[in-house]
Amino acid sequence: MSANKKLLILAGDGIGPEVMHQVERVIEWFDRKRLVRFDTSEALVGGCAYDVEGAPVSDATMAKAQDADAVLFGAVGGPKWESLPFAMRPERGLLRLRKELGLFANLRPAVVFEPLLGASTLKPEVISGLDIMILRELTGGVYFGEPRGVATLPDGQRRGVNTQVYTTSEIVRVGRVAFELARKRRNKVCSVEKANVMESGELWREEIQKLHDAEYQDVELHHMYADNCAMQLVRNPKQFDVIVTDNLFGDILSDCAAMLTGSLGMLPSASLGAADSTGQRKALYEPVHGSAPDIAGKDMANPLASVLSFAMMLRYSFDMTEQADMVEQAVKNALALGVRTSDILQANTARVSTSVMGDTLLRELDKLG
Ligand code: NAD
Repeated sequence: MSANKKLLILAGDGIGPEVMHQVERVIEWFDRKRLVRFDTSEALVGGCAYDVEGAPVSDATMAKAQDADAVLFGAVGGPKWESLPFAMRPERGLLRLRKELGLFANLRPAVVFEPLLGASTLKPEVISGLDIMILRELTGGVYFGEPRGVATLPDGQRRGVNTQVYTTSEIVRVGRVAFELARKRRNKVCSVEKANVMESGELWREEIQKLHDAEYQDVELHHMYADNCAMQLVRNPKQFDVIVTDNLFGDILSDCAAMLTGSLGMLPSASLGAADSTGQRKALYEPVHGSAPDIAGKDMANPLASVLSFAMMLRYSFDMTEQADMVEQAVKNALALGVRTSDILQANTARVSTSVMGDTLLRELDKLG
């Protein structure tokens, strides 16, 4: 049994600890079955970290995150902390983690589980069997570019500025992740920008094409304008395998793709940093949803997005394809049994609590393992 895989668990606020508890039960299950053992530690992040440690993520927690092989993140935020100064807001904890761990590649799979076909607003035939991956550049582009700000002009008008900026190395490193991902999937990359109206988009297109021609000719590459991509995602999403795009377009397109699947409680994500000399990357795995204060503490939250984020960790941080498949299959089997938390409840299915969904998953894992 492999050991010494260092995990830092940051459950956070609201439903974060409730959904993370179900992930911890899955981790214990793997340990009990002597399949994988993780060396886990826990720390505070978000509003609860501010309350106890005076910052949304402390330096001590940052040091633990730097030392970990992977970070499992729950969710942060809630009404209690909304009026804090900007630098102390819970979300700043997540932003600091992303920045200091250098997590430049954000992976958001959009997978449709057959028992949940009816949860999408799109026709079943358009989304049945859908399995796409949106790869968003996370640390560059218009959200970080300088100059930025709002200035008052001599004539009294105000002028707001943000700058879209990418360098060759920023484009190439995310492009490389896209091609590597595609090789393990259906071998297709669609690179998305607005090269027709933006110079930074033109550069993006040229650099992705150059990288492809030099190192990844075995992967099928297409380029697409972002507006067309938004349209194609709802018209015929199954044409895509991996979509790679910048921070701004990725923000929008990944939410659009996520909603093809119909449910926030089912969406995992991964954020990866640069590979070191051993090929290991800093990585953080988290559900796409927030802290859901409206249902926190009620044992109602859907833990599957967090459990699927854990499966992504097995796959992308530890290359444990078999174990990742096992977790994903347990989720599929639980859904096929008609077991549902209230966010994914449908006709002829049974509403269950967070913990009963966890119980069901463990039973399904027992059958598989
Ligand atoms: P949210 O994702 O927390 O909730 C939106 C809606 O979806 C709510 O009705 C909620 O009950 C439901 N929902 C979300 N996750 C669910 C789950 N697992 N199971 C069942 N239902 C679920 O978004 P919001 O309401 O806009 O934000 C609430 C707080 O979360 C805010 O403080 C926001 O800043 C924060 N937030 C944090 C993150 C993060 O930690 N990465 C992401 C988004 C929002």
